[in-house]
Amino acid sequence: MDNVAVFFQLKEYDSLCRENDSLKKQKSDLIDRLKNRQSELHTAQEQAQTLKERLRDLDRELAEFDRVLSQRLAEASKQEVEEKALGVLIEQQKIEELLEEKKTFLVGFEKTVAEITQESNESIQDLDRKLHHLATRRELLFASFPSDWQGMLERVQAKNLSLGNFTKILEGKCALCRYKLSLEVQSEIDQQLKLKACAGCSRIFLPYQVVSGSRT
Ligand SMILES: [Zn+2]
Repeated sequence: MDNVAVFFQLKEYDSLCRENDSLKKQKSDLIDRLKNRQSELHTAQEQAQTLKERLRDLDRELAEFDRVLSQRLAEASKQEVEEKALGVLIEQQKIEELLEEKKTFLVGFEKTVAEITQESNESIQDLDRKLHHLATRRELLFASFPSDWQGMLERVQAKNLSLGNFTKILEGKCALCRYKLSLEVQSEIDQQLKLKACAGCSRIFLPYQVVSGSRT
């Protein structure tokens, strides 16, 4: 295989790496979104539970007032207990309304979260299949490269550079970090098709033919 062909494969390898990163990002975004919705649901369920517990407390308080009122009491204390009981009844009614609202909300929200969970799980499985497929293609491509190219690729990948692993010559300099290249190095890259890494940023130079998409 001629060098230009290998350079094209190198470019393909790089695009597989980018696709891999983007799929992984999609997957982690999906998982985060799902976790958020599930945690919102959990919070709403806990709120409903707290309201139910409060209602039980109020029932107990009312029963106690009832018991007290069944005894013989002085008029003043009887009135006081009745007022307290009325306060509890008012609170009880408010909480029952809140609980009804919460239950209605939960019926819809539980259904929504169940649907989102199923959809997300399907999407995650789909992404996993794509990631697996990508990894296989990437390994095969990598194995087909000459060993010195593999080493250079591994070194630049380890740097996790934000603008990618490859660069080109632009006006005698690295297009990305502007490191100046001698005419000799320029000719090695563009004419002799040697694999060179930029001394400034470590990115690998793709020869002009590969960058422009033309083969001669
Ligand atoms: Zn550079």
